[in-house]
Amino acid sequence: TATENEVIEKVKSLSSDDSIDGILVQLPLPKGMDEKKVLSFIPPEKDVDGFLPQSIGNLALNEPTSVACTPKGIIEILKEYNIKIAGKNAVVIGRSNIVGKPIAMLLLNENATVTVCHSKTENISSYTKKADIIVCAVGKARFLTADMVKKGAVVIDVGINRNSGKIEGDVDFDNLLGKVSYITPVPGGVGPMTIAMLLSNTLELSKRKLL
Ligand code: NAP
Repeated sequence: TATENEVIEKVKSLSSDDSIDGILVQLPLPKGMDEKKVLSFIPPEKDVDGFLPQSIGNLALNEPTSVACTPKGIIEILKEYNIKIAGKNAVVIGRSNIVGKPIAMLLLNENATVTVCHSKTENISSYTKKADIIVCAVGKARFLTADMVKKGAVVIDVGINRNSGKIEGDVDFDNLLGKVSYITPVPGGVGPMTIAMLLSNTLELSKRKLL
């Protein structure tokens, strides 16, 4: 029931409150509210979601910044399992501002050769079949199937699809399991890492404030 102005006033008051290190506006906002306008009242030093143009610009320049939590969590997963990124062919399916684009930039910053596929990409299989690492962020259950993936590939499933009370990812987990070297489950996998990275970003912003 809040109005856009009330939300903006709340963001402004959190922005000027020294005891607050990070501000997250839960998206999507209700219809009629201008997301861009509301987000613009978050100061970059409190952008815990890494969604502001300043944060995304820094990411593109490979400068230290708040990185969107889901993509940041994916890189953490790859590093935790010692999966080599540099020199590898990485294919990202999806180009949203919160997942596809930032994970593509992060993988590029880690020296992967990155291809980004989207709804206008023709013959997606021709890209995924050559990929060492595939990040699937489409929002369609079982979009990535075993015949689209080469043996030994690493598959990161970002999707969250609700199907009659069940949560499913974007990949055909059961049929991919025997073919890939690593695959993230849904639920589990990327989702909990996103939450962990939100805390990691909050801590980093808090430490930066003390510098
Ligand atoms: P989004 O904004 O809807 O973007 C979906 C992307 O998939 C778009 O770039 C779209 O292409 C592409 N796409 C759609 N249909 C396609 C097709 N048939 N072939 C190829 N590409 C296609 O979604 P999002 O916010 O990135 O989220 C993606 C999924 O991840 C959703 O299921 C979401 O719930 C989940 N998610 C999970 C987490 C987590 O913490 N685990 C966090 C965020 C999102 P166009 O750009 O051409 O339209």
